[in-house]
Amino acid sequence: MRSPRIAVIGAGPGGLACARALQAHGHAVTVYERETSRHARWQGGTLDLHADTGQAALRALGLYERFRDLARPEGQEHRALDPATAALRRHDRPGATDDYAPEIDRGQLRTLLLDSLAEGTVAWGRAVSGVTALGDGAARLRFADGVTEDVDLVVGADGAWSRVRPAVSEATPAYLGTSMVETFLDDVDRRHPALARLVGDGTMVAESDGRSLFAQRNSGGHVRVYALLDVPLDWHVAAGLELDDTAAVRAHLLGLFDGWHDSLLDLLRHNDGGFVNRPLHMLPAGHAWEHVPGVTLVGDAAHLMPPYGIGANLALLDGADLGQALASHADLDEAVRAYENTMLPRSAAAAAACLELSEALADDVPVDVDAVRRYLNDRALHSHAPDRG
Ligand SMILES: Cc1cc2nc3c(=O)[nH]c(=O)nc-3n(C[C@H](O)[C@H](O)[C@H](O)COP(=O)(O)OP(=O)(O)OC[C@H]3O[C@@H](n4cnc5c(N)ncnc54)[C@H](O)[C@@H]3O)c2cc1C
Repeated sequence: MRSPRIAVIGAGPGGLACARALQAHGHAVTVYERETSRHARWQGGTLDLHADTGQAALRALGLYERFRDLARPEGQEHRALDPATAALRRHDRPGATDDYAPEIDRGQLRTLLLDSLAEGTVAWGRAVSGVTALGDGAARLRFADGVTEDVDLVVGADGAWSRVRPAVSEATPAYLGTSMVETFLDDVDRRHPALARLVGDGTMVAESDGRSLFAQRNSGGHVRVYALLDVPLDWHVAAGLELDDTAAVRAHLLGLFDGWHDSLLDLLRHNDGGFVNRPLHMLPAGHAWEHVPGVTLVGDAAHLMPPYGIGANLALLDGADLGQALASHADLDEAVRAYENTMLPRSAAAAAACLELSEALADDVPVDVDAVRRYLNDRALHSHAPDRG
């Protein structure tokens, strides 16, 4: 019997975890990624991986020890500051043995996953433009360059704006009313020691009246800064801003954060990069679809949520679960159904919990971040839903 042709679309945490699980069980898989190489794009900030979801997935994939070598348990520190005075309002420091949610740079996690795959598994520079289920269990991939390819299973791991998702669902992400403007500072310990102390080893946050400043330490003295604004999607157009005009965006942000303590504003004044606008979107909570033979989704493609630190964890778990299901069922379609019967209720529960949290966090009250993480994970992992057959 020929082995099934499995195509994973997207080399993010979900797609790479799926490919790793398949290969660990001796199955062939190709990952199609639109980026032209592993170095084509800066992979962004830092992720906290939770013991019972992201870390559990890495254990199942045989990658936990390598993760531990890179992980930063000290990154669990959380400092909530008063916007006007920069005084500490809440300070959570991890204990010596606390490793519920250590941080790892997104780029390091991706490299770790890529290095675990056989040479040539990822086909770089292959952007998928669409997928059609062929009705007989197979599916047709269309690439941006016009090439088509038929396979037995397409795994859509292509993130928020998935080109695979329309083959199973009409859902599209909706704007949450909040945009994140991201920038960074390099080498903070040497160049900006006061800011390094302000941020600490993990995450610093200050918030007031629908505006927040987040700063997160990555490895190597790199700090990512996020200004969160409750604004319409076209806020920058209304403000007459060109987003690549760093000085103009900075001046605009400093105006919005007028009255905040100088040390906090220094995070915006001393940035090394430009500013990147990231409007936050979410798929409908409980997004699900009638099973379509030949196509399924993992990660953000299936369940894009607000960034409360659970998305990458669930993406890893989805990928590991799907790969495991495919390896342990003789029938491809049964394996996908088994995976969807676990993944859909889990992500629906997590998305519902995210929405409840959004309401609870609307007040500027400092929260116990560790409790929030554990709550989201518990809700996801203890979800139950009827078997969809
Ligand atoms: C600012 C921010 C901070 C976050 N922090 C955390 C955190 O601390 N912890 C956490 O758990 N989650 C966090 N998240 C959420 C997390 O980043 C996502 O949930 C996670 O990356 C989803 O993984 P994924 O593999 O599903 O998709 P992605 O990581 O989006 O990967 C998708 C891949 O598919 C590729 N691709 C896209 N379209 C195509 C196409 N048409 N053809 C081929 N390839 C394609 C992309 O290039 C990419 O490589 C954060 C999100 C944001 C925005």
